[in-house]
Amino acid sequence: MAIISLFEQHLPYAAFLTNRLDGHSAAPFDSFNLGLHVNDHMPTVLANRERVAYWVQQPNDNIVYMNQIHGNHVELVSEIPALPPVCDAMVTTTPNLTLMVLVADCVPIVLAAPGVVAVAHAGWRGTVANIVANTIAKMQQVSNVEKSDIKAIIGPSIGPCCYPVGPEVVEAVMASNLKDNDCLSVSNGQIFFDLQKANRLLVIKEGLCGENIQTIGDCTSCNNETYYSYRAEAGLTGRFGMGVALK
Ligand SMILES: [Zn+2]
Repeated sequence: MAIISLFEQHLPYAAFLTNRLDGHSAAPFDSFNLGLHVNDHMPTVLANRERVAYWVQQPNDNIVYMNQIHGNHVELVSEIPALPPVCDAMVTTTPNLTLMVLVADCVPIVLAAPGVVAVAHAGWRGTVANIVANTIAKMQQVSNVEKSDIKAIIGPSIGPCCYPVGPEVVEAVMASNLKDNDCLSVSNGQIFFDLQKANRLLVIKEGLCGENIQTIGDCTSCNNETYYSYRAEAGLTGRFGMGVALK
């Protein structure tokens, strides 16, 4: 399966996760690459994106992809934009507009409540810059959502098993509000960062209920046959994604 559904059918919103299987792209982008910026053959990527549109039963134009820049800016999307918004998170209150985040090792995050949904892209920079807090703040700014009603899904990313980090990342984590949490670990003289745990802690610090947070848990590098991994493939790879929409 190239696309799986993430929420129960009866909820007023829907979300999904894609992987690298059963698409049209040739190696090293094989095969369900959704990233247009990675030098894959453009018509092939568009054919893959059409498949997402078919799956969500919406026109391809209703699926909004970001121009992601490893920042912590959140964009409110109320209608189909002329160009991909330059941001790392999007919020909408408009039904039938699918928000997409694309990744290959960074953490894709979906946030959803009745009347408002969001996606966020959190690599180490977005994580220490607390993009999930900005996203939840924007959700509250544009709707009357209660934090107790927000569900979060933390998607597949590079795991602490495969993510040794250098002094720049360690210093940034220690300077952030993650410093007292066990998101860094030491093994064989190297320091490893747990991006999924860090983002789970950050959404809990924002007031979301633990029972409303689902962590898929897969490591993209350990499961490189299923997901794209920037690190496992030395930067030459495609992108998988998570999407969310209000019904
Ligand atoms: Zn791993």
